[in-house]
Amino acid sequence: MSSAACIFCKIIKGEIPSFKLFESDKVFAFLDIQPLSRGHALVIPKFHGAKLTDIPDEDLLEILPVAKKIAKASGATDFNILQNNGRIAHQVVDHVHFHMIPKPNEEEGMS
Ligand code: 5GP
Ligand code: ZN
Repeated sequence: MSSAACIFCKIIKGEIPSFKLFESDKVFAFLDIQPLSRGHALVIPKFHGAKLTDIPDEDLLEILPVAKKIAKASGATDFNILQNNGRIAHQVVDHVHFHMIPKPNEEEGMS
């Protein structure tokens, strides 16, 4: 299921360019356009749904292993996995996404 108006569905279809990190039948991962740190990635289900509660378990189950792969590949020793649901919880894009945000030490910064 996909939504014609959704920017992340357009990214999955290649209608909006992205720096793709991973793709499988159910999962897509790409770099965040406004990274909070170098390597800030988004891991999303291909199934369109705004909130975690809208996504079938079988699709969700494949997300964390991909986030783990990308965290390992980033080389980050410290990182956050975050997932926002709803405006009050700071969700801006209404297609479920898991942030993988490396937390470099202070000398590394964004370099
Ligand atoms: P949220 O606040 O909804 O959890 O985070 C949405 C994230 O999506 C933000 O970090 C934002 O930078 C990212 N984002 C929004 N539009 C685009 C886009 O068109 N391409 C990419 N790669 N990231 C986007
Ligand atoms: Zn979508």
